[in-house]
Amino acid sequence: MRNIFENMQTKYNSVRPVTGVAGPKVFIETYGCQMNVNDSEVVLSVLQQHGWSLTEEISEADLIFINTCSIRDNAEQRIWGRLDVFKQMRKRRPSLIVGILGCMAERLKEELLSHTAVDIVAGPDSYRDLPMLLREFGAGSKQINVLLSHEETYADISPVRMDKNGVSAFISIMRGCNNMCTYCVVPYVRGAERSREPESIVREAKELFANGYREVTLLGQNVDSYHWVNPDNPTHTVNFAQLLELVALVNPLLRVRFSTSHPKDMEESVIYTMAMYPNICRHIHLPVQSGSNAMLSKMNRKYTREEYLSKVAKIKEVIPECSITTDIIAGFCGESEQDHQDTLSIMRMVGYDMAFMFQYSERPNTKAARHFPDDVPDEIKSARLNEIIELQQELSLAQNQKDLGKVFEVLVEGYSKKSKEELQGRSSQNKVCVFPAGNHKVGDYVKVRITSCTSATLKGVEVED
Ligand code: SF4
Repeated sequence: MRNIFENMQTKYNSVRPVTGVAGPKVFIETYGCQMNVNDSEVVLSVLQQHGWSLTEEISEADLIFINTCSIRDNAEQRIWGRLDVFKQMRKRRPSLIVGILGCMAERLKEELLSHTAVDIVAGPDSYRDLPMLLREFGAGSKQINVLLSHEETYADISPVRMDKNGVSAFISIMRGCNNMCTYCVVPYVRGAERSREPESIVREAKELFANGYREVTLLGQNVDSYHWVNPDNPTHTVNFAQLLELVALVNPLLRVRFSTSHPKDMEESVIYTMAMYPNICRHIHLPVQSGSNAMLSKMNRKYTREEYLSKVAKIKEVIPECSITTDIIAGFCGESEQDHQDTLSIMRMVGYDMAFMFQYSERPNTKAARHFPDDVPDEIKSARLNEIIELQQELSLAQNQKDLGKVFEVLVEGYSKKSKEELQGRSSQNKVCVFPAGNHKVGDYVKVRITSCTSATLKGVEVED
């Protein structure tokens, strides 16, 4: 059997995946949020430093890593299904190594390791340890590391970018979350909040710009609570508005986005900083979750409907062209018809451009699971979710119709799904725009006048400067 561990002295330093080289090959399957996408890029960077290279052909892989999500039950069910597939695969390829990463690894720990198809289990804070876990597994025993850290931010690790367009990349600015929303599993699987050293974030943005990227998205479970304290001089601190400015100053041609904001922590200084820098995109993702004060309190969101609406009013006052998107949960514990109506009415009042909408999925060991009965019947949950989705469709279409005739600067990300004659990209408002390709290419900024729209897409024609 080829000793795949003999190549671990080799180091590959590159912003993009190394492929087509000799030595052991890893296949990485990523589920869940943008944070997980960026974590998989950190994992690949760590492995490339030990002689592994990426393959996109699962049949070629010596090692399969699944980076998992635990946010809802169906996300985990999908992983159990994949493990059954790998169990069959292993019958034909006994030397294949399978590892589970991410939030499900942290939530289930040894329970996952007992699955016959699983050799390695590693939580979100233990990716530096992967080469050692692989070596130890090579020595003969299954391996696990699910220790959560109060310090780990992977600040010194340059992620290896697995995006397809080479235009837009994620930068994690912090890890963990302290908010303890009662329905949420994240604090249990990603640990306490810690903010990454700002210089390493600016360095990463500069590196990306130098490598042709024209957009970065600053990632955190709650970017508004980003707060870095200089360990050598505690009076020197950097908050989110200051970090946003530091990244915006990298280059006016580098667009800056961020996600996810939290209504209780968003400072007005963030909104004013956005207004000062045209390259900070005119889009804020501001999860509301519910429009009912009773539900917001039960969810431990720490803001009221009124406080949320006043934050939205401030955004629209300072940056009228800013698009606002959100997250909504239908059918949370004890939700009455009136609570649901409050959610529909706040959607109309804000006029969201887009929303991620889900029905409540109880997560084990969360405060809600321990204290609140999941008492809204499934048929009511899905009926309310459908009503929310229908309303959002109307709102998205209405918002897009307001853009007809307007001109937006679009950053080209690739060809449209429908035609090679057309390019697509996103406006500063994070809206997908499709237009005739002309001589433009991926990474170009193009001024587009909007001529038609659907609830999901804007279509237009190029406007000469
Ligand atoms: S802010 Fe709330 S919903 Fe978001 S990750 Fe933190 S605990 Fe979960």
